[in-house]
Amino acid sequence: MAECECLAKCPFFNDKMQGMDGTATMVKRRYCLDNYENCARYIVFKQLGREKVPADLFPIQKDRLPAILAQTT
Ligand code: SF4
Repeated sequence: MAECECLAKCPFFNDKMQGMDGTATMVKRRYCLDNYENCARYIVFKQLGREKVPADLFPIQKDRLPAILAQTT
């Protein structure tokens, strides 16, 4: 288990996203500090690049990935 390579610049990890709530600490522990390969933000980062990660995408929102990853332009 390892930390996500995006920690330092990630708006979610650094509490910069709108709509963050009390579950964020748990999500950070579960994704950012452990299972980051399953984070929706990380998956977009890896496939499309940092600039393509939607500002409002939360780690648990893998259901949004097909639509996001389909936008390759
Ligand atoms: S696991 Fe996801 S939310 Fe956490 S630091 Fe990495 S990209 Fe950001």
